Amino acid sequence: MQKEQPVLVEVKNLRKFFPVRRGTFGFTKKFVRAVDDLSFTVFRGETLGLVGESGSGKTTTGRLLLRGYAPTAGEILYHLPDVGTMNITTLPKKELWEFRKHAQMIFQDPYSSLNPRMTVRDIIAEPLVATKSAKGEEVSQRVIETAKRCQLSIEHLRRYPHAFSGGQRQRIGIARALVLRPSFIVCDEPVSALDVSIQAQILNLLKDLQAEFGLTYLFIAHDLSVVEHICNRVGVMYLGNLVELAATQELFQHPLHPYTEALMSSIPEADPKVKMRPIKLSGEIPSPIDPPSGCAFHPRCQYAQALCAESRPEWREISPNHFVACHFAESLQLKGFIG
Ligand code: SF4
Repeated sequence: MQKEQPVLVEVKNLRKFFPVRRGTFGFTKKFVRAVDDLSFTVFRGETLGLVGESGSGKTTTGRLLLRGYAPTAGEILYHLPDVGTMNITTLPKKELWEFRKHAQMIFQDPYSSLNPRMTVRDIIAEPLVATKSAKGEEVSQRVIETAKRCQLSIEHLRRYPHAFSGGQRQRIGIARALVLRPSFIVCDEPVSALDVSIQAQILNLLKDLQAEFGLTYLFIAHDLSVVEHICNRVGVMYLGNLVELAATQELFQHPLHPYTEALMSSIPEADPKVKMRPIKLSGEIPSPIDPPSGCAFHPRCQYAQALCAESRPEWREISPNHFVACHFAESLQLKGFIG
């Protein structure tokens, strides 16, 4: 994906701070800085991966992009074909239903994201009914058509979610997201709760649907080997912001940020004879209530120098379309993933 490709989503200086509750009464003045000054673009038709440990802010980012959360600051613009530019940060609540026709979500846990008291037909139909996009017979037609595209049969539509395996439930979740024919789908760890054999089927289904409907995905994952197979570009998040962003192959072969290198070092090698040498990051990801000074990664970085604790590294384009936030990106010789 190149810069000159049309942009679908533009994120500018996005922040989401959650107040920290203390005791029974009131709030303190402390905040969890879940997303802190994040900017990036998603190109039309691409799959952009977001990776990082839990607590890095990737799921909060996904929810912000769908206005599941209202941002604390910043802007999210959608440049929708046939509709024009929609600034969802300022969109009044009553207009959010219109926006939801264009952007949907596939959830991580297909067990808890489906209402057990609704039939599969009603689950898939719900977004159509809620957004008043179809009525009567048209609802049934669109549900059947979408279910077939997601490899579900008419017989499946009469049943309840508990009658399905994890993979089939995720197909129901995908059908529910697809039924409105959105332009953009946030896939929040869509395969991490599934067996490895089923993961490949769901990833292939997502790819096929993308080709057929021209979908754009934001693909959130903690498993880098999954991301490698489905994403055009990958952004690495740490403590509420991106630390690196590049085309997938480029990122895997030439990581420029020590955190990316550490994540890559834990990907299992396909060849069992190749010995893995995972880089052990010291300690846990720091608290987003009180992030470290300078480079937020410096307390865990094996290459840190005095400057790293003092000054926050700038977000820079080191080679075409390869961005990184590290003072020493040009001089570090980091190891990528050979695969
Ligand atoms: Fe490590 Fe310093 Fe680069 Fe941060 S700026 S990633 S601490 S070398």
